[in-house]
Amino acid sequence: MKKFDTVIIGGGIGGLMAAYRLRQKSPDMTIIVTERGNELNRRVCPASKNNTCVHCKVCSITSGFAGAGAFSDGKFNLGTAYGGTLGEELGDDVANLYINEVDKILVEYCTSGVPKVYESNDELRLKCIQNNLRLLDMNVKHLGTDNNYVTMQNLINAIRESGTELCSFYDCEKIEKSGDGYVAYYTNGEAIECKNVIIATGRSGANFVSSFCRANDVKMRSNHIDIGVRVEMKDIIWREFSSKIYEPKILYKTKTFEDRCRMFCFNQGGLVSAENNHGIITANGHSYAQPEKKTDNCNFAILSSIRFTEPFNQPTEYAENISRLANMIGKNNVLVQRFGDLIRGRRTNEHRLSQNTVIPTLKATAGDISLVLPHRILTNIIETIYALDKVAPGTANDDTLLYGCESKYYSIRPEFMNKNFELIDNVYIIGDGSGICRGLSQSGAMGIYVADCIAQK
Ligand SMILES: Cc1cc2nc3c(=O)[nH]c(=O)nc-3n(C[C@H](O)[C@H](O)[C@H](O)COP(=O)(O)OP(=O)(O)OC[C@H]3O[C@@H](n4cnc5c(N)ncnc54)[C@H](O)[C@@H]3O)c2cc1C
Repeated sequence: MKKFDTVIIGGGIGGLMAAYRLRQKSPDMTIIVTERGNELNRRVCPASKNNTCVHCKVCSITSGFAGAGAFSDGKFNLGTAYGGTLGEELGDDVANLYINEVDKILVEYCTSGVPKVYESNDELRLKCIQNNLRLLDMNVKHLGTDNNYVTMQNLINAIRESGTELCSFYDCEKIEKSGDGYVAYYTNGEAIECKNVIIATGRSGANFVSSFCRANDVKMRSNHIDIGVRVEMKDIIWREFSSKIYEPKILYKTKTFEDRCRMFCFNQGGLVSAENNHGIITANGHSYAQPEKKTDNCNFAILSSIRFTEPFNQPTEYAENISRLANMIGKNNVLVQRFGDLIRGRRTNEHRLSQNTVIPTLKATAGDISLVLPHRILTNIIETIYALDKVAPGTANDDTLLYGCESKYYSIRPEFMNKNFELIDNVYIIGDGSGICRGLSQSGAMGIYVADCIAQK
């Protein structure tokens, strides 16, 4: 059986940053990063050829070295205003310190250009306030999909060259106590003995985290879920915002239900993408930094937040079932509907879609999202689109496209033993899988923070 001091499960930004920092702080430590998916340079999504998801067993978009962020737009939040609650856990000063550390490391390995930093903007914030919208504002660094990829590949190479082992196609099924340490068991038949475990399995590892917590009596808090649609329209409609702050993130309290709806994950000149989460196909989006790869469109998510109360405690399953319904109607694909058709109570069909002025960047199934989304969620989304139309006229155009569904689950939030994010002795959890982070900067920061805790022990 292989033996290491520290096993890191998951090779996304959280796991990689933890590995990088542990090597710096504990040069003699033996470290292995085990990843369910493929090497970064072998991660190929078949949908890139024909824009249709073919349901791979392990999704190359969300799994593999560099994690869910590998093909992302590489928007790096330089603060704690959104993208997770690490600021609440550690205090903003400490969290920001660690976010800056991640940024420094990424700058070191970003060899393909200097990313642009977009600063917050008072004028736009005021315009939003005057229309009952709240613009979430902080400085954001934009790497772009291509620079982000190069940076992550350079970082992975550096970690490997430093003596840390990185293994792909190591899907961890369980961790068991053994003597003073643990054994991690993998579906490929391998087992690794170790002292410390860092669980860095991201959103795609939610089931792994919950079964670990159940097996070890770690309490889990039920978080909220966000569910809604990916919205696509002509890029020019949001250019006033995107040229000044790059990524508008806007909150709206809906009139009918007084629910919180948010517009976020904005991609200027971007593409809508499909993502396979354990066989459920959902919408997402990204964009390239290179001008020649830009489209005429922009896209963003509008998600309605739902926090369930007693006795219901399966928010993830709820969101998955809604997405499954969209896949059922869409014949194993995401649905797309024109906003004008939705408002008129009719489905979008191929003919109407072919006449649309906004050309879809994802081959989704033309249909009717009102047959999928519950009334409350749909009402929230429609109201939010009209509210956004006041600050970016054209958002509520008939030809605006809505792709359903998109959802973000943060439902598993284990209770930690201490401020080191330890679940049980020497087993730590970081990144999106901890229920705390929702972005690259905080996931990376949590990885470095936990590495420091281990190194100081
Ligand atoms: C399309 C897309 C675009 C995004 N764009 C941005 C953006 O621009 N800016 C931003 O800040 N955030 C963005 N995000 C979110 C960001 O990617 C995540 O917040 C971040 O990747 C979380 O890092 P992580 O290391 O915690 O988890 P992940 O990056 O999800 O990595 C976890 C890894 O663990 C592996 N894994 C899971 N279970 C197991 C197991 N049992 N055994 C072994 N390995 C396992 C997975 O395969 C995965 O590679 C985007 C996400 C997506 C999907």
